[in-house]
Amino acid sequence: MIREPVVTGKTGVYGIIGHPVEHSLSPVMQNAALQANGINGIYVPFAVAPEQLAAAIGGLRALQVRGFNVTIPHKTAIMPLLDELAPSAIQAGAVNTVVNQAGCLIGHNTDGDGLVASLKDDLDCSVADSKVVLLGAGGAARGALAALCRAGARSVTVVNRTVSAADTLVTSFVADFPETLLQACCFDPFLAGLLPQTDLVINATSLGMAGEKIEGMPLALLPDHAKVYDMVYTPPQTQLLQDALSRGLQTANGLGMLVAQGELAYFLWHGKAPVADVMENALASFGSCVRKVLTAADIAR
Ligand code: NAP
Repeated sequence: MIREPVVTGKTGVYGIIGHPVEHSLSPVMQNAALQANGINGIYVPFAVAPEQLAAAIGGLRALQVRGFNVTIPHKTAIMPLLDELAPSAIQAGAVNTVVNQAGCLIGHNTDGDGLVASLKDDLDCSVADSKVVLLGAGGAARGALAALCRAGARSVTVVNRTVSAADTLVTSFVADFPETLLQACCFDPFLAGLLPQTDLVINATSLGMAGEKIEGMPLALLPDHAKVYDMVYTPPQTQLLQDALSRGLQTANGLGMLVAQGELAYFLWHGKAPVADVMENALASFGSCVRKVLTAADIAR
């Protein structure tokens, strides 16, 4: 049950900036957690057009907003406007969470660590020592690659339609993570040759949101223990996940990542974790609940 927060003169203000921002589920998750933890705070959406970003950051600073999330299209553009960047933001090349520490705006990125947390929670998948195929080379893939390397993946192969983008991404990480074998390719025979030795496939492309199939991904070649994760969570069961389930593989969609990145941002602002499951339950009450972990029975639905 989502209740209206009681706002007083002491209420701390948090929020999210994006353009558009109407679709964001973060206000639902964050306000539920504030209430469950008994924190006198409120989390609001701020629609900020790209040309207004610098003015908006100045305003948020002047108004002493205590923390905010950052979504498309501001995740990279905001970086030079902040006072400090945490290593998570520098490695991801993007900021999704800003902490206002006594007037100093510090940028973090919780997306990648949210992914790693969701892999553990939803697929019982420990990234350490795993051989990973990461589909996509955009912003989400960059954050994921940084977190996968930090979590000790044995190898990550970045697969992208535009192979030059995958090459650039991999090249920028090689020096920082010498213990992870990093490679780049497109959807080609090289990828097919890797799949039989792959433990985990992660989709970080935008394919799947409109029912698209990912061409050039022969899931039949994966070993039986392989797991397939799709960052897309709308629809909850993409074509990739349906195909993986048909192949008998364990799968999960990106809802867990969405929730986990929000939980990590909440921890950065409030110094404590939200009440267990409160963010996910809030999404369910809001009507946005989808199953994170899918089973073969879901294919029939
Ligand atoms: P992005 O920066 O725009 O990158 C899009 C990626 O998808 C690129 O690698 C692009 O390849 C690839 N792609 C797009 N259309 C394609 C096509 N027709 N065929 C093959 N590849 C195609 O987007 P992003 O911010 O990384 O987001 C990617 C996805 O992750 C989105 O669906 C987003 O909703 C999801 N996401 C989920 C969470 C979560 O919490 N679950 C968090 C962040 C993002 P090219 O380089 O060849 O164009």
